[in-house]
Amino acid sequence: MRNLAAMCLAGLLGLSPQSHLQADEAPPVLVIHGGAGTLSRDEMTIESETAFRAGLMRALLAGYQVLDGGGSAVDAVSTAIVTMEDDPLFNAGRGAVFTHGGRNEMDAAIMDGETREAGAVAGVRLVKNPILLARAVMRDSPHVMLTGQGAEEFALAQGMDLRPPEYFRTQRRWKQLMRRLEPTAGRPRTIDRVGTVGAVALDQHGRLAAGTSTGGMTGKRWGRVGDSPIIGAGTYAANPDCAVSASGHGEYFIRAVVAHDICARVRYQGLEPPQAARQVVLEDLVQMGGEGGVIVLGGGGQFSAVFNTTGMYRGVIDGPGRARVAIYLDEDLSPAVSGGE
Ligand code: ASP
Repeated sequence: MRNLAAMCLAGLLGLSPQSHLQADEAPPVLVIHGGAGTLSRDEMTIESETAFRAGLMRALLAGYQVLDGGGSAVDAVSTAIVTMEDDPLFNAGRGAVFTHGGRNEMDAAIMDGETREAGAVAGVRLVKNPILLARAVMRDSPHVMLTGQGAEEFALAQGMDLRPPEYFRTQRRWKQLMRRLEPTAGRPRTIDRVGTVGAVALDQHGRLAAGTSTGGMTGKRWGRVGDSPIIGAGTYAANPDCAVSASGHGEYFIRAVVAHDICARVRYQGLEPPQAARQVVLEDLVQMGGEGGVIVLGGGGQFSAVFNTTGMYRGVIDGPGRARVAIYLDEDLSPAVSGGE
């Protein structure tokens, strides 16, 4: 904990604590998000802004500690995401949004860019950390995606931490559902769902990974599944090209196959990952009417957060002690790395 506090302080001051890198190892990078949406300074209180920034910083530090200790990109991604799933501020794990029927149904996915193995779960209700279940699907099952009751039977068999439905419920999300169900409610407001979490990482051995976890969209019905657990739509990683985690109106991200399209542009057109992300999110998606954004990271450490909304909760550590978080469009995340936003 003392280490964490020191890193945090060093990060805020822009200092570099001691690195554990060997000469032939690349500096690891971790980029995270806590959802894209309509986030304006006018609608945000100082308290909630401070809480979100602190929540992002906690997740960054937890994930980066894994990378700094020589751990894998997959472990860093899942550690950062677990931290946000446990934080009721975010729309993932505890604090997930409610379905039309008043339940929490969560989706998550993880992908290892080095092996291109992937695991995903959809519509789980009792699993404390859906990202860990997605990782178990990837590592300990012959499948890529499990849904609903079957996914939870697998979770039980794996000895995963299961919680009763009350664990996931928060008053804030319940109020959002009540507002959504009002007969006069118009088009879904993005504020109703913002808070999906995700991470992309590059470890000391050059391996990329991506992961995403969400409660989906407030008031969703009929077992709706969004883009987050769909490999290639909301989550994708392939070495050495790129790793992507998305957040936004999932139906559009599925149809645009956003995460894979970005990585395909890197692979086949030789674009830098941030440039490929800008083409897909700011051109294609906008043309289709899809709102949201992505975090993207390349095998050379090039990263960016690209979104067509007014904000995206996001953060990066691109070197020991260089941690930064941002919320609004006009904030700069990456002065230290070329190709960043
Ligand atoms: N993409 C998520 C979904 O459609 C929601 C979000 O990221 O805000 O389920």
